[in-house]
Amino acid sequence: MDYLKGLNPPQREAVEHTEGPLMIIAGAGSGKTRVLTMRIAHLIHAKGVDPFQILALTFTNKAASEMKHRIEKLIGLEARNTWMGTFHSTFAKILRVESHLLGYPSNFSIYDTDDSKSLIKAIVKEMKLDDKVYKPSTVLSRISGAKNRLISWEAYLGNADLRNEDALAMKPLMGEIYKTYQKRLFKSGAMDFDDLLFNTNVLFRDHLDVLNKYQQRFRYVMVDEFQDTNLSQYLITKKLAAVHQNICVVGDDAQSIYAFRGADIQNILNFERDYPDLFVVKLEQNYRSTKNIVQAANSIIAKNKAQLKKEVWTQNHHGEQIELIKASSDNEEGKLVATTIFEEKNNKKLNNADFAVLYRTNSQSRAIEEALRKMNITYKIVGGLSFYQRKEIKDLMAYMRYVVNKDDEEAFKRIINFPKRGIGDSTVEKMIVAAYEHDIPLWEVILNANSFLGGRAANAVDDFATMIKSFGIEVERKDAYEAANTIAKQSGLLKELYEDKTIEGLNRYENVQELLNAIKEYVDSPENEDKSLGAFLQEIALLTDNDRDKDTSDAVTLMTIHSSKGLEFKQVFVVGMEEDLFPSQMMMQSREDLEEERRLFYVATTRAMEKLYLTYALTRYRFGRLLNCEPSRFLEEVDPATIRVNKRMSTALSGALRNESVEPRSGFIGIKGPQVRPMTTAKVHSPSPDFKPSNTNNLKEGMLVEHPKFGYGKVLRIEIEGLNRKATIQFENFGEKTLLLSFAKLRII
Ligand code: ATP
Ligand code: MG
Repeated sequence: MDYLKGLNPPQREAVEHTEGPLMIIAGAGSGKTRVLTMRIAHLIHAKGVDPFQILALTFTNKAASEMKHRIEKLIGLEARNTWMGTFHSTFAKILRVESHLLGYPSNFSIYDTDDSKSLIKAIVKEMKLDDKVYKPSTVLSRISGAKNRLISWEAYLGNADLRNEDALAMKPLMGEIYKTYQKRLFKSGAMDFDDLLFNTNVLFRDHLDVLNKYQQRFRYVMVDEFQDTNLSQYLITKKLAAVHQNICVVGDDAQSIYAFRGADIQNILNFERDYPDLFVVKLEQNYRSTKNIVQAANSIIAKNKAQLKKEVWTQNHHGEQIELIKASSDNEEGKLVATTIFEEKNNKKLNNADFAVLYRTNSQSRAIEEALRKMNITYKIVGGLSFYQRKEIKDLMAYMRYVVNKDDEEAFKRIINFPKRGIGDSTVEKMIVAAYEHDIPLWEVILNANSFLGGRAANAVDDFATMIKSFGIEVERKDAYEAANTIAKQSGLLKELYEDKTIEGLNRYENVQELLNAIKEYVDSPENEDKSLGAFLQEIALLTDNDRDKDTSDAVTLMTIHSSKGLEFKQVFVVGMEEDLFPSQMMMQSREDLEEERRLFYVATTRAMEKLYLTYALTRYRFGRLLNCEPSRFLEEVDPATIRVNKRMSTALSGALRNESVEPRSGFIGIKGPQVRPMTTAKVHSPSPDFKPSNTNNLKEGMLVEHPKFGYGKVLRIEIEGLNRKATIQFENFGEKTLLLSFAKLRII
């Protein structure tokens, strides 16, 4: 079979070793994901395994669907029937079938982080605690940590160590909040993300017949990015594979970057203990990156003490050196990234999609975005405030969620008085409290509004109930698209948005239409058998950040390093290489923290195929203040032979170089000094061979030009003086010059 030809000997060994436990521990870009894909194709094609019996767990749903398509190409449509997806989406699907066994409705809601925080906030308020001490995000991450280690609220309350930790952190009531939070979720018929895994564990623990059903079903279990599984996930896979023992995990300990979410590298070590007849394959040849990049990445990770031994090497050519770019400020950094992309695109005939800009925290994207926008370079942001997190989208989704699950408290709070129907906050609170005091479902309270509320409020709630009931009938009878359309119209939501004629209002209206389009697409796709609104909602709730970008147009990708895992791009910029930003200030408590940050740096560098840029700024706005920054210690850890300092400069930077106010760290690899060419001794430029002056009638600010003597530069402004047009241009090596356009020979690039 052809697909085996595209594999090296150890890769092939891993593909052909189909029976029994198998662990592939390998470096970045060594073909782990490729091997997993081929292995599935091989199981189906050569071993005759029924695709329904294969379960593959990936890091994003997008990764799963890409894998599926590749397998489809190799072996045909049959591949569609393999089970592939993230842990969360896969086990949510299973819970949808089995949740009644745990006392949840099959249409249970899935709370996203915002819903969870809003619920925690409400609980903290009801308990009359200080929400500055019990910050919703802090509480949620504590609860999440517990769930990922399979500690229930009961166990939490009974655990002296945990309670001690909370007391020391001045948050003694954490366990109580956890308990109330869990009870409220249950009453709302809702699970948060961690519950999906926690409850799957409970399901498999308490219902052996169910466990057995899935053990029989999934004869082959595979996990990509195994280094980032937490205990909860590990136990699920272990249980599922217990009968057939055909479990194959694929990972790289050097890329473990989710310890803060409970991921545990220990799982790799436990795996060897749990499966004594484990077959281990090591892959060390990198196919993704140039020699330079591989060498740089190796030099970075070598600084970590805790890691399994492996040598990553490549036969690829040396490639260009890594470019180190210094900017005077965060805005300048953005500009330098944008101009570099612009130039590289032209010089190397690349597309926008060949570039990625990676950063440590989402907020760093602003300056980069601005610069890209100014240069008209299309980009997309993965993560951040994505489409499904916009208010108008959440509002309509909340309507849909509520119709499907009438106990969903967070959805209820969002829609009960939006659009306005005269039901105030105190009425809403009264209803929620009534549901708890009388221990009845929230929906009961709504149906019997007269018993709990005064006349006017009760009438308004009655009307609301009538509307929701009519939506309920619609949802039962129609597909997701038709039902959603009715809900959007008859709830008054579309009208409310339509009447807002501001640009933002129009945008919001269009976004809602876009959501309806997405639902139509979902309903029309043959891949989705269940076309109900409930099924659609579940699908959406489980999209990870990476899955959310639907846009396939040619765009530069902006994303955090965390979400770049497993991906590759021809050219990669890692921006914000500064102390306290990367490594992050928040992650500097211990050696383990620093090592995790270093692994993150390793992940970032190994995304690049052909060219890597590391950039840093001397000043940056953070927390509302202009801060002086020091270059990241990580820059010193990169093998100096692989790196060179970029001579690209723009206005502010050239100023900063002449009059340097912030000194880089001492001993820092030659960033200053002779490698930066002094401005005064710039050599006269020799024009590129294809130099032909352009028509400058349409020359505009921001454009890049080449001058036969002064070389490359960027247009700062265009002025008109009498009959003359003048351009002020910042040249890379000659500084600012003002030229009369009727005389100047310029090539627009
Ligand atoms: P990461 O650690 O980043 O997840 P990985 O180990 O999963 O990386 P892949 O993404 O599977 O690596 O492969 C990296 C690149 O190398 C891909 O473009 C892949 O197609 C290519 N590749 C892998 N193995 C081979 C091979 N034997 N021949 C040619 N190309 C290969
Ligand atoms: Mg991979």
